Amino acid sequence: MAAGLVFQPAVTATVFWWGLVPLLPATFLVHPGLWRNVCPLATLSMGPDTVPIRLGAAAEASPWAGAAGVLPFLALVAWRGTGLDSDPAGTGALLAGVLGFAVVAGRRGERRSGFCNRFCPLLPVERLYGQRPWVEIQDSRCASCTLCTPRGCVDLSPPAAAAQLLGPGRRGMEWLLTPFGAFAAAFPGFIVAWFRTVPASPAVLNLLGALAVGLVVSWFVVAAVVRWSGVPWRLALPTLGALAAGLYYAYAAPRAVAALGGGAGLGRWIQVGAVAFVAAWWIRAVRRAGSRGARPV
Ligand code: SF4
Repeated sequence: MAAGLVFQPAVTATVFWWGLVPLLPATFLVHPGLWRNVCPLATLSMGPDTVPIRLGAAAEASPWAGAAGVLPFLALVAWRGTGLDSDPAGTGALLAGVLGFAVVAGRRGERRSGFCNRFCPLLPVERLYGQRPWVEIQDSRCASCTLCTPRGCVDLSPPAAAAQLLGPGRRGMEWLLTPFGAFAAAFPGFIVAWFRTVPASPAVLNLLGALAVGLVVSWFVVAAVVRWSGVPWRLALPTLGALAAGLYYAYAAPRAVAALGGGAGLGRWIQVGAVAFVAAWWIRAVRRAGSRGARPV
């Protein structure tokens, strides 16, 4: 990646933003470990097995568990909307910055508690899309668990991580007020606002305004539906995950194919295939969530 940004900057930035990034949600739907086991950020930020003081343990045990990764993720996607995906220097600066922060924060915490399970901008979508893995994948980094992250570790158990982050309020509507629950409810609107606004290359303030409206409207619509229908969290959360992933691929697939030089026809086929894949994931996820056997820890 570094060499590509130096010797072939434009191609590398395009392949990164429209090749690698669009693949990630699909890997999380299959199992978050598919990426987490090979992620270079995780490798370079992995902390020691034990540390004198468990940094962040208190925060991760609090109702604010899961909040730390949400804001960096939304900010990063908003930044991308200002033209980052056609800016190799900006892309390089972003990756170098995230890498540097990951190493500093990660090495101060035990195992993954310093960065991966706390500040990583991918964490919110790993948890949302990874909540009902399609396959079982062994975690390659933690042979034995030290419980470095008291709640929400997707390497330990993706379904349990989602339930833990929603907390005891998941039996009512309070889960919508937790950082992870609020993110899940607001994210579909954020995706629609991003893809409907960015192509017009709006001014930064207009983009941020549109994204904020998307987040708020989406949250309120979801809260109203949950209130009116009484749908339990174990069906609502996978539905929100599928809705976000489906919307993402419906918009991103044709754009990614076009950015990589493919034709409209291929873009349409990949769009239909990706949305069908998400729909099949959703059917399986709600079936499992509905069956008593899938009740998380
Ligand atoms: S599996 Fe255990 S030790 Fe590994 S990151 Fe998760 S909580 Fe930490």
